[in-house]
Amino acid sequence: MENKEPTPVEQRYQEKKELRQDQENAPAPSKVRQIDGQTLGITWTDGVDSTYQVRMLRESCPCAHCIDEWSGEKRIKPGDIPESIRPLKIKAVGLYALQFDWNDGHSTGIYPHALLRKLDGKPPLEIP
Ligand SMILES: [Zn+2]
Repeated sequence: MENKEPTPVEQRYQEKKELRQDQENAPAPSKVRQIDGQTLGITWTDGVDSTYQVRMLRESCPCAHCIDEWSGEKRIKPGDIPESIRPLKIKAVGLYALQFDWNDGHSTGIYPHALLRKLDGKPPLEIP
């Protein structure tokens, strides 16, 4: 009798292949532009236009300095990041993320494309 069910190895191979295809098909930034001093725009390969307040982006830095590795809690509090925060350099990391060099000297944050899509239009933390 022939068994048509995929073996676990075949199944894992298939899942990995699908994951890779997902990453390849996922929208990527096709254009990054400074709209004004405080606003950054990203146009994506699927045609979506995103806008970001740069202070919100800095506050959302996903690196280990800015997010507590154990609790997942943000270490940045409202008011920690000044209005004068600006990205100095933005570079692509592989095919999946952008890295920002900020004018406060912070540059360890790598922002996956999926995170950037989630942050689209999100307001900065309210300064009390
Ligand atoms: Zn950070």
